[in-house]
Amino acid sequence: MLKKLCPKYQAQSILELDFEELEKAGIKGIIFDLDNTLVEWKKDTLSSEVIELITGFKDKGFKLCILSNALERRVENVAQALNIPYVSRAVKPRKTPFRKALEIMGTNPEETAVVGDQLFTDILGGNRMELYTIWTPPLSDTEFVSTKAVRQIERLVIKRFRKKGFLK
Ligand SMILES: [Mg+2]
Repeated sequence: MLKKLCPKYQAQSILELDFEELEKAGIKGIIFDLDNTLVEWKKDTLSSEVIELITGFKDKGFKLCILSNALERRVENVAQALNIPYVSRAVKPRKTPFRKALEIMGTNPEETAVVGDQLFTDILGGNRMELYTIWTPPLSDTEFVSTKAVRQIERLVIKRFRKKGFLK
């Protein structure tokens, strides 16, 4: 069970994502979480760096999709601004919304990465689907009170993964 929470890869920020490395790993599609991954929690403002990153991925021919548990309107706003498809109200870590994203992008699990800030939704869901899971620390400290509680457990889990050498 604990192993399913372990990301395959960790990046300090989504801006560190490397086209070439992903290509080498056979990745053709990338699923992005929204809150605290692409934008700060509950904000719709995209930084110019993130816009540039997403544009770069699109230019290189990667298929992209936003997968978020948030309500449709917010997800739609950001997705439209970036001109990429989305799945909202996703109930991650359930498999169904991930399958939907794969269907939209037309990619198989083995050629799809998922990037997100939460082990218990993004990474667990991605691992259950056998995707290439990439964990990035949350963009801001602001989030649901319930998420904050989960974060404490998350920190312990990360610590343990590091100790065991699963993560750097
Ligand atoms: Mg998130």
